[in-house]
Amino acid sequence: MNKGLLIVVSAPSGCGKGTILGEVLKEDNFYYSVSATTRCPREGEVNGVNYHFISKEEFQERIDSNGMLEYAEYCGNYYGTPRKEVEQMRLEGKDVILEIEVKGAMKVRTLCPDAIFVFIAPPSVKELERRLRKRGTETDDVIAKRVSEAANELTYAPKYDYLIVNGALEKAVDDFKTVIKAEKLKACYATEILDEVINNA
Ligand code: 5GP
Repeated sequence: MNKGLLIVVSAPSGCGKGTILGEVLKEDNFYYSVSATTRCPREGEVNGVNYHFISKEEFQERIDSNGMLEYAEYCGNYYGTPRKEVEQMRLEGKDVILEIEVKGAMKVRTLCPDAIFVFIAPPSVKELERRLRKRGTETDDVIAKRVSEAANELTYAPKYDYLIVNGALEKAVDDFKTVIKAEKLKACYATEILDEVINNA
């Protein structure tokens, strides 16, 4: 069995990546890696589903015990990817999705050269600000921080393998699925199929 893909997705806050991934994750073979964070839960967020909400001390312990594949600070909070689950799921053949910010993604780029990097951009930074205000889960201060962070994050987009602009949801979901399909067609993942082609009578 082939190892599952490792798909790293980054997008400025409010780009709609959660909605896109929600659609993609309806398909079977994906495993969404639940990150750990020191941020407080938003209304409706569930511990162990959206994030593992942990204290700064516990976060530090996990770093010290090599429990994080990567971690980064974002707008004053820490976020990190639990190493064990990601490796385990890939070995079981599941395609693992990491939804992480750009600095963490660049660390994964170095650590896992076989990972696929997808950047989701808003149609414009102004539209992103409008979406964040509409969501209404952050204060004006936090929105301003996130909009300015978004401008910085967009400068990382050329370092990714694929860029998807989330103007219309359906098209963005379709683009995402096309990326995965193309990756699966790569000859390096087709060794078993090639064996059959060569050996079957
Ligand atoms: P939010 O607070 O909006 O849930 O997430 C803020 C940012 O942290 C988003 O860009 C999100 O993708 C990123 N993030 C979430 N989990 C992780 C993680 O495990 N590692 C890193 N580096 N970033 C993460």
